[in-house]
Amino acid sequence: MTGPNKKIYLSPPHMSGNEMSYIQDAFDTNWIAPLGPHVDAFEKELAAHVGVKDAAAVSSGTAAIHLALQLIGVKEGDTVFCSSLTFVASANPILYCGASPIFIDSEPETWNMSPQALEYALHEAGREGHLPKAVIVVNLYGQSAKMDDITQLCDAYGIPVIEDAAESLGSSYKGKASGSFGKYGVYSFNGNKIISTSGGGMLISDDVEQLQRARFFATQARDQAAHYQHSQLGFNYRMSNVLAGIGRAQLAVLEDRVSARRQVFDRYQEALAYLPGVRLMPELAGTRSNRWLTVLTLEEQESGTSVREVLAALGEQDIEARPVWKPLHLQPIFKGASFYAHRDRDNVSERLFHTGICLPSGSQMTEDDQHRVIACIQKTMKQTIHSN
Ligand SMILES: *Cc1c(COP(=O)(O)O)cnc(C)c1O
Repeated sequence: MTGPNKKIYLSPPHMSGNEMSYIQDAFDTNWIAPLGPHVDAFEKELAAHVGVKDAAAVSSGTAAIHLALQLIGVKEGDTVFCSSLTFVASANPILYCGASPIFIDSEPETWNMSPQALEYALHEAGREGHLPKAVIVVNLYGQSAKMDDITQLCDAYGIPVIEDAAESLGSSYKGKASGSFGKYGVYSFNGNKIISTSGGGMLISDDVEQLQRARFFATQARDQAAHYQHSQLGFNYRMSNVLAGIGRAQLAVLEDRVSARRQVFDRYQEALAYLPGVRLMPELAGTRSNRWLTVLTLEEQESGTSVREVLAALGEQDIEARPVWKPLHLQPIFKGASFYAHRDRDNVSERLFHTGICLPSGSQMTEDDQHRVIACIQKTMKQTIHSN
């Protein structure tokens, strides 16, 4: 049965209304593409916002990860450690470089990279004399990983950290911006992220020289010569001036977007946390999540309702909800890659994959719409309990 109601999306873009004036300015000055003053300004404004020395605007978050690996010099035969519970874009660039990913499990307090599993994997790689070239740590659904533990471990082995903060722009860890902890940080402005340029990304670092190299690689690695000379492999990865204008208008409302999404989370928490077997994604003490998506886990044995039933009921009501990311060590494309579990016989990412549900969390969602989502979940769960 499909209701007369409009479709509720998981995480639709939310424009501020000021984007058009930036776009108009780009058109008026004929700075359409590539690059231009909005790109420079967007980079400066974002770097200042998250407290790093420099930022390079690129065509996607995926491109930013690829560039970070390129700057570190990852190549064929190398390995790169990566969180397993994440979107495929976190790890695909490892394959672009001809290197091999090794996946690290989550831990229960942040759902992100388990420091225990990382320590074990580093220890083993060190013993075998084949340490990874980089570690890609993801901040899932807005929640920061345990960055102190992870950076300490990686520093001890001299391995650079790439922080995939595609989902955590606007979040913080011990008062410092999420994304600013590794040698490189990555943000995404894809259509579903907390702010959007329709498509785009940012590579950030305190290493200004390396980010200058990133801009060089992102513009076809063109040497200093009038005649288009190239001595290294480059890419076409820069952001256009029009999209950077959208980004500037979006960045100005980032804090509003974070409070709106946190409010959405609070309402879900109030309405759903009491249900048997339901738990909402935790927020580690000392961190502030942007709550990009509200995610809950549902234990079928406690609740008598399966994840599949809830997803089906929401789908019937034209409400977009999704399972949690399928761990990358289970993906066919990464078949054969090594995986380190949180603990022996305690595979946290697989458990979260089987029990997790991502709920509509857009910053523009009305209270009425959210009530529809909540009512549908409550109804599905009670019905199943009664029919037991
Ligand atoms: C969205 C996302 C990316 C990729 O960003 P794009 O801009 O879509 O290329 C990478 N990692 C994570 C965790 C993401 O959610």
